[in-house]
Parts: sequence; C-alpha cells; structure tokens
Amino acid sequence: MKPEVKEKIQHYINGQFVSGVNGETFVNLNPFTNEKINTVSEGTKEDINLAAKAAKEAFKQGPWGKMKQGKRLQFIYKIAELIDRDIEEIALLESYDTGLPIAQTRKMVGRSADNFRFYAEMVKNRMSGEAYHVDDEFMNYTIQKPVGVAGLITPWNAPFMLETWKIAPALATGNTVILKPAEWSPLTANKLAELIHEAGLPTGVFNVVHGFGETAGASLVAHPDVQLISFTGETKTGSEIMRNGAASLKRFSMELGGKSPIIVFDDCEMERAIDACVWGIFSFNGERCTANSRLFVQETIKEEFVSRLKERVENIIVGDPSDPDTEVGPLIHKDHYENVKRYLKIAQEEGAEIYSQPLSESHKKGNFVAPTLLLNVKNDMTVAQEEIFGPVLSVLTFKDEEEVIAYANDINYGLAGYVWTNDMKKGLRVANSVEAGMLWLNSQNVRDLRIPFGGSKNSGIGREGGHYAFEFYTEMKVVHVALADHHIQQFGKKKQK
Ligand code: NAD
Repeated sequence: MKPEVKEKIQHYINGQFVSGVNGETFVNLNPFTNEKINTVSEGTKEDINLAAKAAKEAFKQGPWGKMKQGKRLQFIYKIAELIDRDIEEIALLESYDTGLPIAQTRKMVGRSADNFRFYAEMVKNRMSGEAYHVDDEFMNYTIQKPVGVAGLITPWNAPFMLETWKIAPALATGNTVILKPAEWSPLTANKLAELIHEAGLPTGVFNVVHGFGETAGASLVAHPDVQLISFTGETKTGSEIMRNGAASLKRFSMELGGKSPIIVFDDCEMERAIDACVWGIFSFNGERCTANSRLFVQETIKEEFVSRLKERVENIIVGDPSDPDTEVGPLIHKDHYENVKRYLKIAQEEGAEIYSQPLSESHKKGNFVAPTLLLNVKNDMTVAQEEIFGPVLSVLTFKDEEEVIAYANDINYGLAGYVWTNDMKKGLRVANSVEAGMLWLNSQNVRDLRIPFGGSKNSGIGREGGHYAFEFYTEMKVVHVALADHHIQQFGKKKQK
C-alpha cells in the first residue's frame, strides 16, 4: 500500500512552504524497494538564517510571545486533534519512508498526539513559578519564561514520535521552533508542518528546514539567535554539536546512542523474559535507542533460553512494512544496511556464531537484514560494545550477580537496562547497580510521559519527558520584592557629613 506523496517536499519557513535559497534538492528513497519516493529541498545556512529570523521575530514581536497561555494552548490541543484525524495517513507515510512496520507506526503516531495533549495539560496545571516569603520585609518569587528560539534536531528511527516529543513541550511553554528533521525520513516532518499550518499557528512560530547534518544542522547549531538545541541521534554527532554550539553558549539536551543490557537470571519467568527480549531487540527493526542489544543469560538456563530464542527468530514475520502482520521491515537506507552487514562480518571475524532466519527472493530489493542472534559473544568484542542499530542480538552468558553487573557496566553507554528475576531483592540490587538512565525490572520498555527519559555516560545529557522537559524549555527568573522600607547600604554619603 502506497500513501499519496508530493513530488517535492519544501521547507516550511515563516508560515510558507518554500524551496531552498539555492534551489538544490536531494532524493528521498523507499527502503522496501530502494526506488525514489520524491525530492526534498536541501537546506543551507541561508535557509537557516531565514528560519531563525522568522522564529526570532515571532518570539519577540509576533503575537506568540504576548499571547495568553489559554489561547496558546488551544493551538496545541488543535495540533493533537489534527494528528488524531490523520493517524492512518501519518502511520502509512512513516512506514513508507522508514520501513518501520505499520502496526508499530500506528501506535507511535497515537502517542505523538498524546505528546501535545500531555504538555498542554502540564503547562495549564503547573504554577508558572513559586513564591517564597522570607520575612515581613521581603518576598521573593520565581517565574518560568520561554527560552526563545528552540533548535530541534531529530533522527530517522522514530521520526514523527521523536519530533513531537520535542516540539510539544517547546511550543506549549511558549518558545518558537526550528526543526531540522533527519534527511532519510522527511515525509512525516512535512506532514506535521502541514498540520501545524492548518492549526493556524502564527507565522514564524514553527519552521522546518530539511537537509543534511553537516550543512543545515550545523548552521542551526551555530546560529546566534537560536538559544537551545535539543538533539537526538548518535553519540559522536552529539559531541560534534556541543563543540559547534559552544561558541554561542547554547543550552543542550542530548539523547544519544545505547547498547543496553537485558539480564536474565535462572529464576525468572522464562516465557515473559523471552517475549520481552525478542520484542526489545526486533521491534522497530532493531533501530531503536533503548533496544536490549546485549543479552546476558545465566549459564544455568542458557541452553533452553537460546533454543527458544532461535525458534522465535525463525518465526518472526519479515516483509512489507505496510502489511499489518509484518513484525520486521527493511532498514532505513542502503548505507545503514551496509553498516549493519559490516558488523555481522566483524562478528564472524571475532569468533561469534551467526544464527539468523533465511530471507527469501522477495527481500532482495529492500534493505532487509534478517533477525539475527550472535552467539558465543564475549564482552570485549566489537559487537558487544558498539551500537549496531539493527535486528541483531549479541548473546553472552554469566555465572552470578557480581559478574553480570561488572559485564553490564563495562561499556561506554548507559541508556537503558532490563532485569528479569523473581527474586525481588536481587532484582532491585541489580537495578540499582547497572549504570543506565532507565531500568526496567520484569518489564519491557513501557513509557509514561510523566517519567524522565534519558541516558547516562555516553548515552546523553539531561532528561526529556515530564517536568524535566518543562524545565529545559523554560528559563527561571527570580523577582525580589521589598515589602517594607528596609535598610539600604549607603555609599557616597560619608564625605558630605
Ligand atoms: P545522527 O546522529 O546521524 O543524525 C541525527 C540528526 O542529526 C539528523 O537530523 C542529522 O542530519 C543531524 N546531524 C548530523 N550531523 C550533524 C551536525 N554535525 N550538526 C548538526 N546536526 C547534525 O543519528 P541517526 O543515525 O539519525 O539516528 C540514530 C541514532 O540516534 C542512534 O545512535 C540512536 O541510538 C540514537 N537515538 C537516541 C535516542 C535517545 O533517546 N537516546 C532516541 C532515538 C535515537
């Protein structure tokens, strides 16, 4: 099934869909067939300059900055309503553009509408500041104001969801926005611009500049009128962005890569642990930051656990992302496919055994990588240490609690972790010791928008979600008020005496 797409996607700047200043475009490909979908305007510094001018004006002079909160939030609710209306179309566009199975994109799009409602509610229900009475002479109070122009840079692995996760709190708190979506997944960012246009936001409040990281992305990061950058993507890109944004002293939120452990003890509920493990690595085609890509299974149950994993791997439905039965689709792009294949070669060279589902002729055209287990992996192998970002699970074993904690933490990443055991004391000890921003105990990756999301070590800086996003997108100010004529220090009066 094919969605209807425009032949050419343009930037959305100052309330209009426009081609880039230099007129250049790039080709957007379909991961299932590797055929051209359409062309996309290729943003440059000049386009970012136009977007930054529009966003700054909208913030400083336009109606957005002065708008009453209630009215501003009506726009946010409206965006959610329009996403709900077009859920099927957006999900199909996302699957067509990224190769993510439609059953999974449908859920993500629903959650994207919730992102807008959630942050509208949060802003509405939250006191904008706090008052502190110090004594009868003084009162201090705090207020939280929008920061200004927010630069949002997003990846291709769950584009619509991750974009709205940033846009919703940024807009609800009163900032203006420039979005630089990933170059491999521009379709739903364009659809979102259409919906926001339809919602009637004042011009310049929301802007999208398409294009590549080194040009459009880097110009956004370096722009002096952009006050903050919220970035989700690879660790090395995050580090480059922080270097580039240092000159203009940007505020940063960094959601980066991961290589998250799933630790399975022999006293767990095995069927549930297998369900969680399989879903956690093979959903979203394995292109997921919180994927449990390192399995540590206790030696005592290794044989049974791995044999049951193999059975699942053989039976995963790999195919057309627009088919509702599909569980794993093609990877986003030929280049990424080649990179995942490179890791499989490295795995073999380093002595791992590869176990995967055989693919058929029908998979040849697309960027399909079969769901794969890497067996006999040791923790110092490349495939146990680096993020592969595909449907590939590295399987390792451990003797006891102490050993598995040491293995789990012997890595530069620290995004997520998963622990399976029926011994709650042990489970909590391990949950406490694994170095990760998020830990799920006897649970797969379920999210609650009120809860902080983010990683430690090389997996990120800061947290998104809940009031953490509210803090990031607002600037706190303290106002000190005198309630009485208190004593004021007197300088320059001594001489006159
Ligand atoms: P990427 O870092 O290659 O690109 C992400 C975005 O950054 C794209 O829009 C890209 O154009 C832009 N970019 C690239 N270079 C830039 C530069 N020098 N300056 C400014 N912008 C630049 O990441 P990707 O391949 O699109 O996404 C996959 C990565 O994202 C994985 O590592 C994954 O773990 C990570 N991720 C993390 C989270 C999280 O919440 N921690 C969530 C999703 C994805």
